[in-house]
Amino acid sequence: MIVAEVVAVDSVHVTIICPHCGKFHRHGSNGRIHERDYGSRVPHCTGDDSSIDHEQYELITTARTIRKPVVSRQDLKAWLPEQKRRRAAILEQRRELEATEADRRIWAAIRELSKRWDRLARWQIATTAGVSNHFVTTWLRQHGIRFVEGRYQVIQEHKAGPDLTAIFGRAI
Ligand SMILES: [Zn+2]
Repeated sequence: MIVAEVVAVDSVHVTIICPHCGKFHRHGSNGRIHERDYGSRVPHCTGDDSSIDHEQYELITTARTIRKPVVSRQDLKAWLPEQKRRRAAILEQRRELEATEADRRIWAAIRELSKRWDRLARWQIATTAGVSNHFVTTWLRQHGIRFVEGRYQVIQEHKAGPDLTAIFGRAI
């Protein structure tokens, strides 16, 4: 099971850094301040994070866990830089995954559409791939494809590669 590091325990709460969203979450401690392991819990990520994978995690303490009858906001400040670092890493990883997924969908859309159409319109690619027109424009530019004389054509073949060059054709 995925591990959630316990940053602080008091008589009411166990505070962790969530391995899914990188934010602090609190769970009940049942008055036990000195346990090593606080068992498995269901994450309760909120906002944009509420739709992500909600695999249960195991609440594990470390030598760095703060243990006090009452943990204050001030106590948690010591963990803020670490929390922010983990949150940033998770968001970065998520962005990379989304970009990879968008790339995969654009490739699939172009391959599919090119079977039926000689000229691919940007809106067709965007609609089929489920991304914005702007994203398609950026993607095409990155792949050496520009709108030239009424249609998208390859102007930088080394960026487009053989598959896209065959589909879009070379600008003369
Ligand atoms: Zn979370």
